[in-house]
Amino acid sequence: MTASVTNIDESRPPVVDTLKVLDKVSGSVIEELPVNSPERVTEMVENARRAGQDWSQLSVKERVKYIKRARNEVAKGRTEIFSLLERETGKARADVVGELLSVCMDIGHIASKAPGWLKTRKVGTAPLFGKKGRIVYKPHGVVGVISPWNAPLTLSLGDAVPALLAGNSVVIKPSELTPLAVKRTIELMNRVLPPSVLQVAIGEGAAGQALVDHVDMICVTGSPQTGRRVMARASQRLTPVLLELGGKDPMIVLEDADLDRAAAGATFGSLLMGGQVCMSVERVYVEAAVAAEFIDKVVENFREIRVGANGIDAEIDYGPFTSANQVNIVESQLKDALEKGATVLIGGKRTGEGAGVYFAPTVVTNVDHSMEIMKEETFGPVLAIQVVKDSHEAIELANDCQYGLNSSVWTRNIARGIEVAKMLEVGNTCVNECVLSAGVQNLNFGGVKASGLGFRHGGPEGLRQFAVPQSLLIETRRRKTEFPWFPYAPKQAGHLDKLIGLMYGR
Ligand code: NAD
Repeated sequence: MTASVTNIDESRPPVVDTLKVLDKVSGSVIEELPVNSPERVTEMVENARRAGQDWSQLSVKERVKYIKRARNEVAKGRTEIFSLLERETGKARADVVGELLSVCMDIGHIASKAPGWLKTRKVGTAPLFGKKGRIVYKPHGVVGVISPWNAPLTLSLGDAVPALLAGNSVVIKPSELTPLAVKRTIELMNRVLPPSVLQVAIGEGAAGQALVDHVDMICVTGSPQTGRRVMARASQRLTPVLLELGGKDPMIVLEDADLDRAAAGATFGSLLMGGQVCMSVERVYVEAAVAAEFIDKVVENFREIRVGANGIDAEIDYGPFTSANQVNIVESQLKDALEKGATVLIGGKRTGEGAGVYFAPTVVTNVDHSMEIMKEETFGPVLAIQVVKDSHEAIELANDCQYGLNSSVWTRNIARGIEVAKMLEVGNTCVNECVLSAGVQNLNFGGVKASGLGFRHGGPEGLRQFAVPQSLLIETRRRKTEFPWFPYAPKQAGHLDKLIGLMYGR
């Protein structure tokens, strides 16, 4: 796949001095924040590096104590965080509260495991017997975290917390559309954390670029375009990158699936947060024998979905778009699909009242891979369903896509489900489940192909990616020489040659 990489995103508006953060329901300005210039971001990284000198010297257990106390502060201040997050994203209250709960739970899990996972490891030293081998986990230094607008807390603190526990200091650059809840959360955490260990930089792509130019590891959650720009820029200093990018997640429904469960899964998976979820179900391949029944059930489910303005007592399942621009992408993909012969079974248009931009739950069928809606990320409340003759066609079509993030297979035959799952070119697959895999701490969550590089969660490796594994080889005996050292013994090469013959074949 080819991609043009530039350092500046020309499609974005020019850099501004202040950010007006909008309430996505009323359209009013919640707060106007000064933008941090690239020079100021550079200064933040320098401060973080200085603060990291003491922070990295603490034991992991001491850092765990700080992070848990910081979590207490966040929990105490949660009402304000909920309000900011709800207003700046437009999400349903349940999603907002669930987001903070998942952050708190993740902190609990990783904090309990960090001391063990970051402990110096003893390893064997073969073929150099009698020596000691150790792997020491040292912090990278300053980790930059660039996050998107759809789940501002999870997608910034999800990287920041393990990075902090590993001894790094962190600068987060939240999305320009949703910086408020992240900023407030960090202020609350900073009531207990040492100064400059965790900071927030406000701004658009330019602030993100400045971060990339100075940090020692950069984590980006966003679109593949941003991922490519960041990786190209990071390559100048060979800075390690963690890229969590977009998805076009397929769902495969085999003819022996529990259709009620599959239809309910498709409904939740495609409409959660109005479809503005990287691991949401965007396209379905259903075997012909059960297609009509499955599609009927999905449409019935979609009819029940409530869309509207959010709020503590609002009875809605999802609210307006967080990024108003997203509706143009959704409408343009639908237009393309309709022009090429697709059929909208329900929805297909804007809905709701007021300043917020709402889109009705939409099911589209008679689709194929000539249409953008089957290959490009939609990130809206739209489910495209293609009927296939068998599982082979489903697998082929699922893999015919630049993305490879999440996916799901639905069948009563679990062994067959796992077999199909393994044939998908993706980072994650659920069998008779969808979306929720991203919340399971012991499972890696990350993408392949244009969906990214590296992963979150996933046990010791998930945490250790925020550390540099330094290898130590230690000789404690006072030996005068070693076999491979100078001077080479007479016939040494001949002996080694014989050894190869003895061990691996004459
Ligand atoms: P985006 O790529 O437009 O922006 C993401 C972040 O990158 C923002 O903070 C933005 O300011 C910053 N940025 C933009 N240009 C930059 C540059 N040149 N250098 C440095 N930083 C720059 O993405 P978005 O519209 O905010 O979010 C939606 C995208 O995120 C979707 O593609 C979605 O699938 C993806 N996403 C992926 C995951 C995952 O875990 N894989 C999770 C959520 C969202």
